Amino acid sequence: MTKPLTIPAGTNEPSLARRTLLKGAAAAVAATGVTMNGALAASVAPLGQTGAPTRSTAPLPLGPLPGSRYPDSHLESAKKGPPSFGPPGFPAFAGTMAVERVATGFRWAEGPVYFAAGRYVLFSDIPNNRIMRFSEDDGHLSVYRSPSMNSNGNTIDREGRLITCEHSGRRVTRTELDGSITIIADKYNGKRLNSPNDAVVTADGAIWFTDPAYGIGGFYEGIKAEPEQDKKNVYRVDPKSGEVKVVVDDFVEPNGLAISPDEKKLYICDTGFTDGPDNPSHIRVFDLDVAAGKVSNSKVFADMPKPSITDGVRCDTEGRVWCSVGWGDPNEDGVRCYTASGELLGKIHIPETVANLCFGGQQRNRLYICGSTSLYAVYTSVQGAMKP
Ligand code: MG
Repeated sequence: MTKPLTIPAGTNEPSLARRTLLKGAAAAVAATGVTMNGALAASVAPLGQTGAPTRSTAPLPLGPLPGSRYPDSHLESAKKGPPSFGPPGFPAFAGTMAVERVATGFRWAEGPVYFAAGRYVLFSDIPNNRIMRFSEDDGHLSVYRSPSMNSNGNTIDREGRLITCEHSGRRVTRTELDGSITIIADKYNGKRLNSPNDAVVTADGAIWFTDPAYGIGGFYEGIKAEPEQDKKNVYRVDPKSGEVKVVVDDFVEPNGLAISPDEKKLYICDTGFTDGPDNPSHIRVFDLDVAAGKVSNSKVFADMPKPSITDGVRCDTEGRVWCSVGWGDPNEDGVRCYTASGELLGKIHIPETVANLCFGGQQRNRLYICGSTSLYAVYTSVQGAMKP
């Protein structure tokens, strides 16, 4: 069994102490294959300190968005029909609510995850090389981790531990309950990963993550480097052995991903359109076999209106699929909600390009939305699936 390496809490990385630790740990776990080799590579990775904090001289206003008369016109149902109380058939509508901007001042916000025990949202500010923390009880905003190795996607496992994808670290890490950081995956087939982007954890503890090349394409959201992997894969990390295996290898740029609440479907965004006009801008859905660690029966679940792309996706408890939309027509910027069969139910309009989203709140009925420079939130009439 692979014993993951653990960096003690409070250790600034990558420091001399950490390198020393890694060398010692490497000797101690000489038979650990993927994980040990990956850890040695990580010890010489650049810091990724590429960002300077955005000056907060003219922040966007917080609170409900302008024009948020109830019912909020930022909610648009795809259902047409007789007049109804609020947008018909759209479960984003919870009544006396409006889309709010709850925090601002970021260069590119992405990868939100909600921690119910602490009632806060963590999300990455990738170019600024930091993970932010928004506490929903009093709206307090603070830096959770900096440098974050240009972290991108974050999620939470069943034990309440933070799972993070790092661009400049080119790895997936787990933050233990004592604050120490464990390297989960940083190599496949003896070569460095591209730049892990987003992750999800199934009930058995397996970690599934995407590995596009965005984080090594330049020096803004990571450290520029040539890909070592032949493809941009989706991987699964075995919860017992720590082995990293490819589960999907035919994406142009695999990006956000989510598991249906019954764990029978895996949704993965392909943002390959960024690499060429003929490439996909859509979400694919797979039949998921958690026990076997495999997927099958790939289908296009939802096409995005090019040039818009969808970067992140989440499910609610009833299997609906909520995804981000951005980079194209401003009128499409925001969030879309689909039934499990792929029928569009409605849109949440956000005044910035949206990257990713997660459900939070004490009842998991508050949708947090990372939109470029700001974090938005909206109460919905559904609950997010426990498995983000
Ligand atoms: Mg992403």
